[in-house]
Amino acid sequence: MSWTVIATWPFGETSVRAAQVLLAAGLPALDACIAGAQAVEDDPTVNSVGYGGLGDVTGRVTLDACVMDGKTLRCGAVAGVENVRHVAALARRVMEATKHVLLLGEGARDFAVSQGFPLDNLTTAKSVEQWEKTRPKPGDPPQRMPDPAADHDTVTVLARDSSGHLGGACSTSGLAHKLPGRVGDSPIIGQGLYVDDDAGAAGATGVGEESMRICGSHYIVEQLRRGISALDACVAAVARVNDAARRRGEPVGRIAFLALDRFGNPAAACTKTTGFRYAVARPTGVEILQAEEF
Ligand code: ASP
Repeated sequence: MSWTVIATWPFGETSVRAAQVLLAAGLPALDACIAGAQAVEDDPTVNSVGYGGLGDVTGRVTLDACVMDGKTLRCGAVAGVENVRHVAALARRVMEATKHVLLLGEGARDFAVSQGFPLDNLTTAKSVEQWEKTRPKPGDPPQRMPDPAADHDTVTVLARDSSGHLGGACSTSGLAHKLPGRVGDSPIIGQGLYVDDDAGAAGATGVGEESMRICGSHYIVEQLRRGISALDACVAAVARVNDAARRRGEPVGRIAFLALDRFGNPAAACTKTTGFRYAVARPTGVEILQAEEF
């Protein structure tokens, strides 16, 4: 059986290249997805994930992540964690070593320490400079919606392994300059990620609030369960996001969905102006694909 792995944004190429090594060696999809997320968490040039992520409005860097195993539906997540770089691996530890699904803030950091995760300073000189440059200044008009061009972007990795099982991982520093305590879609199972071997896998990136209003990833996986194609399922989620924006009378935010059906066929779709690209790796090679906007 053949394997496939997909990951959000052009930096997803770093993820799929790390993940494909494990998949080619016959390792489980979840291991590959976490390795893929970790490769981006370690990259200081990505200002929206792990080390080098941008801070909230006060400058504190807080990370969110979740993981899900499609065979067992076991999942784990952490939100608002400071000083821990490998939050996708930490989410997996929540899944494996506790009876819970989601740990928050200080509790998640204490759990990380108890599990032997090192505490790190996650800022770099460049990330502090970027945070300063992009932060809202006194006198800026109040923003009802996060700036569509602002610094955010999640690494979401979905894989099907050579045994036919699915896995997923999602890791982000969330929206730059977010309000302290804000939690987006990424660490919430069903919003930023959902994976079920019987149906497929889906994930999101972009303004998380858009996905949260429609339970984006779970919605897509339920479409896949009904036999809808991965592309049509992503397009249907984008249509729901657009409809929700119309109903509240606001412009729609940038959001993209990507999916892998249970046979390993990938697809993605996004709202207008998102400019979403994603990386795909299969035994035949690595590609960067452009999602259509709706
Ligand atoms: N979805 C993330 C969040 O809302 C950010 C992103 O992917 O751009 O926190």
